[in-house]
Amino acid sequence: MTIKQRIVIWYTIWMAVLVVIAFVVLLSAGGAMIRHETISELEEAVYDASEDIWTRDGRIIVDDDIDYIDDGIYLSIWQGNTLVRGRYPSEMPEEIFSGDSIREVDWLEGTWFILDFSIDEDYFIRGTVRAYDAALFSSSIGAFMLIALPLMVILAALGGYYIVRRSLKPAETIVATAEQIAGSDNLSKRIALGDGDDEIHQMASDFDRMLDCIENAFVKEQQFTSDASHELRTPISVILAEADYASSHTAEEEKVSEALCVISRQAGKMSRLVSELLSLARSDKGTLTPEFEDFNLSELGEMVLQTFEEKAAGKDIKLYLKAEPGVIVQADQGMITRIMINLIANAVNYGRDGGMVVLRISCNGENAEFAVEDNGIGISASDIGRIWDRFYQVDSSRTGDEAGAGLGLPIAKELVALHKGRIKVDSIEGEGSVFTVEIPLRQE
Ligand code: ADP
Repeated sequence: MTIKQRIVIWYTIWMAVLVVIAFVVLLSAGGAMIRHETISELEEAVYDASEDIWTRDGRIIVDDDIDYIDDGIYLSIWQGNTLVRGRYPSEMPEEIFSGDSIREVDWLEGTWFILDFSIDEDYFIRGTVRAYDAALFSSSIGAFMLIALPLMVILAALGGYYIVRRSLKPAETIVATAEQIAGSDNLSKRIALGDGDDEIHQMASDFDRMLDCIENAFVKEQQFTSDASHELRTPISVILAEADYASSHTAEEEKVSEALCVISRQAGKMSRLVSELLSLARSDKGTLTPEFEDFNLSELGEMVLQTFEEKAAGKDIKLYLKAEPGVIVQADQGMITRIMINLIANAVNYGRDGGMVVLRISCNGENAEFAVEDNGIGISASDIGRIWDRFYQVDSSRTGDEAGAGLGLPIAKELVALHKGRIKVDSIEGEGSVFTVEIPLRQE
């Protein structure tokens, strides 16, 4: 049974039960209320009339505007058992005055209320009204309910069904979209219910937002896999070609040794790439956890910079260290080393021949700061937002053995984030770049 059917059945049953209860209450309380109302009206009519009637010298005087029959109430004036004025149901027995209180008289298959009120010793005024007929009342209400009840139930069921159908229509759209996505693996579909601030619209827009995230992650994942395979394919092809070349020139020692050199460099490149991919995968999985220890950042910077001396000299680049001495940080030394290596390697790689690279290290309030500055090719405004994307390279034709795969900066960014720090770049195309890293001196 669908939710729609369940709601409509439940709601209709309750509606019917409520109507029946209302009917029973009406029957039981309604009779007593009408009886009470009839008596009050009779009393009011008699007492009002008594104010318009008086006697003088034994004669009765009646005000002209008295109504002898009004709203089913008969008013009559009696002298003893003689009707002097007014109206009295002709079929009723004439009774003499019998005290100023309500009497019930059964007459002609009905009950009548009679109220007498004495004007003086001779005259009295009488009010007479037919009491409500309980059986008639019940049967007419019963007849009404017999027609009204099924009608009300049908109307309630139809109305309920309409409202539930309208309210659940967006839910059907959600289900249909989910089925389409499941059936076609097409994550680009959206529910797009449009405007509306009810719970289902809210759920649909949350669902759409969730699909945006899933699609983004999925596209990134696909892009990542294809980029990673692409990056690995080149060195593998080179290794295969060199291995073939070497095996067909086994007699020529020099060629074989050259080929082995190329194979070794390409294998080294692959190994670096695989370890970078591993770092990113572990960072994504949340299993890359820093091991914090106190160390001297200034000394670490000096050591790392020294390892680039040979490479920088190859491009006639001068390396400078401008470090505040003794900047002690609590951080993962291996990770900070990796960040510095990536930034300095880039500064040298993208630095201009005969240029310079400066490593600055300082303490800035609660943070340690290190910046790598070069006066190389710089980064254009259109590329600067994308250099943090995995595998993004401004000039992908740089395929030398030392060239990276566009993972250096994304890794640096992840490692900085693990230290609750920040990394930023300022660059002018053709003039140079400054990459600045800020990490807290102490981890909480
Ligand atoms: P890569 O392995 O290509 O160096 P990175 O993630 O380290 O990958 O850098 C991404 C891109 O950012 C580089 O391809 C390069 O175009 C640009 N880039 C990074 N550092 C610098 C720099 N110091 N000067 C100019 N461009 C840079």
